Formats: sequence, C-alpha cells, structure tokens
Amino acid sequence: MTGPKSEILFHGCGVASGITLGTAVKLDSHQRVELKTSLVPDQLESEVNRFRAAVEASRRQMAELKVSLEEKVGKEHAFVIDAHILMLEDRSLLAEIEGIIRSECANSEWAVRKAAATIQQAYQSLEDEYFRERASDIEYVVERILINLAGSEPFDWDHLAGDLVIVAHDFSPSSFAAVDLERIRGLALESGGRSSHSAIIARSLCLPSVMQIPDFVHFVSTGDAILVNGDEGEVVVNPREERVAECRARIEESGMRALPGPGGAALPAATRDGATVSLRANTELPHEVRVATACGAEGIGLFRSEFLFFAHSTGFPSSEDQYLTYRMLVEAMAPHPVAIRTLDTGAEQIWTGSDLSGCANPSMGLRGIRLSLRTRDLFRAQVEAILRAAQFGSVEMIFPMVSTVEEIWRAKEVVREVGRSLSARDGAAVDVSIGAMIEVPAAVLMLESIAREVDVLCVGTNDLTQYLMAVDRDNPEVANLFQPLHPSIVQCLQRIAEVSNTLGRPARICGEISANPLVAVLLVGMGFRQLSMNPRSMAIIRKTVSSIRVDAAERLAERILRLSTTQEIVECMVAEVSRILPLDLGQYVREITNPVLGDGSATGFTPGRRVHA
Ligand code: PEP
Ligand code: MG
Repeated sequence: MTGPKSEILFHGCGVASGITLGTAVKLDSHQRVELKTSLVPDQLESEVNRFRAAVEASRRQMAELKVSLEEKVGKEHAFVIDAHILMLEDRSLLAEIEGIIRSECANSEWAVRKAAATIQQAYQSLEDEYFRERASDIEYVVERILINLAGSEPFDWDHLAGDLVIVAHDFSPSSFAAVDLERIRGLALESGGRSSHSAIIARSLCLPSVMQIPDFVHFVSTGDAILVNGDEGEVVVNPREERVAECRARIEESGMRALPGPGGAALPAATRDGATVSLRANTELPHEVRVATACGAEGIGLFRSEFLFFAHSTGFPSSEDQYLTYRMLVEAMAPHPVAIRTLDTGAEQIWTGSDLSGCANPSMGLRGIRLSLRTRDLFRAQVEAILRAAQFGSVEMIFPMVSTVEEIWRAKEVVREVGRSLSARDGAAVDVSIGAMIEVPAAVLMLESIAREVDVLCVGTNDLTQYLMAVDRDNPEVANLFQPLHPSIVQCLQRIAEVSNTLGRPARICGEISANPLVAVLLVGMGFRQLSMNPRSMAIIRKTVSSIRVDAAERLAERILRLSTTQEIVECMVAEVSRILPLDLGQYVREITNPVLGDGSATGFTPGRRVHA
C-alpha cells in the first residue's frame, strides 16, 4: 500500500503574483501532456496492440529514413539509424513496456516514458561518454513512438479534473494557444524568467507563476496536487493539509484580486509638483483592453500583435481578421491612442519547419522588423489592417527590433505604398503615427537619426537588457546577469531621455521595469513622461508618481548616474523610495536584481533550494 506522497518544496523566481492550488499537468518537451490514465482489464489487450502498432509504424519510418539518409549523406553516416531500429526491435525492451501497461493498467505513453526514464538514468550515470550519448538515442526513439501513439488526435482536456497548473521545462508563448485557458490556474517552469514572454502573458492572464525552478519537473507527475506561490517564488508539490488550508484562506482573503483602479475613466498620474505622467497599458490578448480601461490606462502603449499570430490555427490571421481585432482595440480605447507593434517574433516561432526557421540563435536572427521586411506580403497584410483600423481612432504603428535607419526607411515605404492603394481603393485618407522600438544597442547609439524618422520612441528595456548585457532573457543559467538596472542600461536610458527632449520626440518606456515603483521614480527623474505597463500595476505606479516631486526624482537620477554597480543603484533607490512610499519594497528589489547580484552574492534569495518537508 502506498501512503500519501510526501510534500516537496521548490524555490524559483516568482514572475506573476498570487497564490494558486491545483492539479499538476506535466508537459513534455513537445508540450504534450504526460498523463497516466487507468485502464480497465478489458482494455489492456487493445492498448498493447496500440503500442505494437506504434512501434511497427516507427520501425517502418526509421527504415525509410535510413534509405533517404544513405542517398543524401552516404551509407557510412546512415548507420546511426540502425541503432534506433535495433532499439525498436529489442524484444526485452518491448516486453518491459508491455509489462508496465499490463501490471499498472496504464496507457502506452506512460509506459514508454517510464521504461525509457529508467534506461536513460542508467546510461547517464555511466562514466563512458559513448554510453551517455546513447541516452539521447533513446530520447529520439521514444519521441518517434510517442508521435505515432498520438496520431493526429488533439489532447482532450476533460481527462483532467479541476483547476490545473502547467508543469514543464519550458512553455512558449504559442503554447498558451494550445491549452484550455479556462482550466489553467498557474505555471511552474524550470526555464523562463521575469521578462520572458511567457511570464508577460502569465501576468496579463493573472496566472500565479514561478519560473527558473532548477531540477524540478522530474519530481512531479500529472495528477499531483500542487501549490504555486508567485509572490514568494515557491512551489509545493503534494502540499500537506495544513498548508493547503492556509493557502485557501490566503486566496479567499485576497478576494481573488478585484481590479484596482478608477473603473473606467482614464486617469493621468501627476507628481506632487504638478508634472503629469501618462500611464498606458501593455497588452497581448485583445480582451485585455477591458482590464486596461478598468485600470484607467490613457491608451495602449504597446499591443504585442504577435499573440494574434500565436493564437491562430495556421499562424497567419488574415488581414481582415487582424483589422477586426485592431479596430476593436482602437474603438474601445478612443479617444486615447493604441500603439500596435508589428509582428515581433522569430521565424522559428510561427514557421516551424520552413527554410526561414532553422537558426541556432533565434533572438539574433530573422525576427521583428527584419522578418517583416523579408516576408513582404505578410507585412503588407498587417500594415493594411493597421491603416484600416486607424480610421476609427488614434493609432501608432511601432516597428520592433530596429537596428538600422534603413529598416525604418524600408518599412515606411511599405506603409506609404499600402496607404496609397487603400486610398485608391476606399478613397480613405489614412493617418498613422510611426514609432520604433528602441531595444537594440545600435538603435540607442543611432538614436538621433532614428528619432528624426519617427513620431514616437518605444523603449523596450527587456530586450535592451538582453542585447546590451549579452544575456538571453529566457536562460535561467545567466539570470543573475539579467540586470535591467545595470549602470550601462541606466546610461542608455539617460541618453534616450535627452535625445527625446532635444528632438521633441516622446519616449515611452514599455519594458517590465516601468511597472516597478522603485524604477518609476528614476524614470521620472530622467525626464520620461510616458510609461506603459501591465495594467494591473498601474495603481501602484500612479500612487508612486503622485508621492514624488520632480526635483527630488531628478536629484536621485543624478546620483544614480554616477554609480557603477547594480547593487549600488538599487540601494540608492531603496533609500530614497522607502522614505516616500510606505511599501514593502522587497518584491520590487527582487524583480530588478533577478535574483542574484553579479558577484554571486545572494540577495536573500537562493535559486534552486529544494526542501523535502
Ligand atoms: C521589450 O523588449 O522591452 C518590450 C517591451 O518588448 P517585448 O518584451 O515584447 O520584447
Ligand atoms: Mg522587445
């Protein structure tokens, strides 16, 4: 008899606040649910036959693959496939898997994964590198069998009861489109980070989430009870009853987060000495426009249009579909402006398998405006949709990942061409402001030239941090270097504020830092007067802005610009802001120090602690 499973506590980085309780749904590296279903004895023979058919199909496919590989690269390289075919013919392995199906009354997928995990562990523990490599051969064979078991059937979410929490190594933004969002209550991931796109969506969907939990997924099975505390960066698998009760009380107490804000009317933020700061909303999903208005946003400062593409079944919403969405946003926000950013994704995220998608280093590859300029028809379709929507209100068209002035010239040429043909077709005059994301270091250095070509500068501090610090924003291994307040970034921000003022081009901060009260004070002190953020952060930023004076914020900015480490900068901010705001600043400090300062000294947070309670 098995007793209750023991509680395990994991620590990671809380990226979306709130607490949630649910049932774990474990996804594999291909985002398929790893689920053990219990079969009744009558079903076992047909399940074994289903498994055998999948093995046979895999063997046939491998044999075909071998022939084609021989033709392309020669017999001497094709022999590696023999090893895979041999595994598929290994009677003892097949018998073991069938044994698991029968003895545990389990589905084939579960049995395959269980048998493979045991063998892989055995290989990985060996000294010999050759044998350790064999673990990846097994992975490949397992993958092939699982594909054949899955056929083309989409996963039926009704297999799982109650509220669900996604547990996975990674979970890309496009994966949100593949799950039943009505049922998902939280995320617990090994990868990702505060500024990863999955974290951004989790926050906009109010899904309490913890990411960067090292060595975690292995300890969880689909069906385990799981608690996610996005405020503390904690995940508890199989929580004890007392902990569950305490957690339920906290969920109830927080009233499941009523929307803060003025409930409809746009509300500018004003400093104590009367300077106004326009607070706008970053949105990813069209329905968030309601949240934006409820929180008093003075417009949408950044609509990440790629999420329309991720959510679309083919990856390519038509120009008409896009137009309808953009028009809805524009009408809902009127008279305030909506900044629609053109597709900002890498080719690999929407075209799996195309010629454009194979790239070892996607964040430096064909993405953002580079991709749009390469796929002109798609770009024209999007530009047309934006220009048509602009007839219903105030719109800014923002080009992402600009690294040269020529890119802006070429993109504007497309806007002019499409505008001309729209006018000829509908007789409509089209008026749209043009903006550029400033998020690549080259754009900061070339800012005067870029600013002369556009109406507005949108500062993407998430990517600016990534590219300036040369640190992948999604890679937990280098998360300690993802320092959005590193002095180098602070210097860039100061330069952007100065150029913006000199040339009279508004500059809007759109990265995650604008939702942080500590940073908001610095930004106001540098001269920024537009901040765009997750709408749910607007209340705290409005309060922050209304508690400060511009002259004091300017003095803070001057002091900070002389400092040479992130730690000094954060300490200086905390000293200033804690005097004016009666707030627990710990969470905001963690967000920008993320989570260990450069020399490895912990800031009260140790990533990867795991406690068996
Ligand atoms: C940024 O890079 O800061 C930004 C606002 O855009 P995204 O997070 O979508 O890359
Ligand atoms: Mg960006």
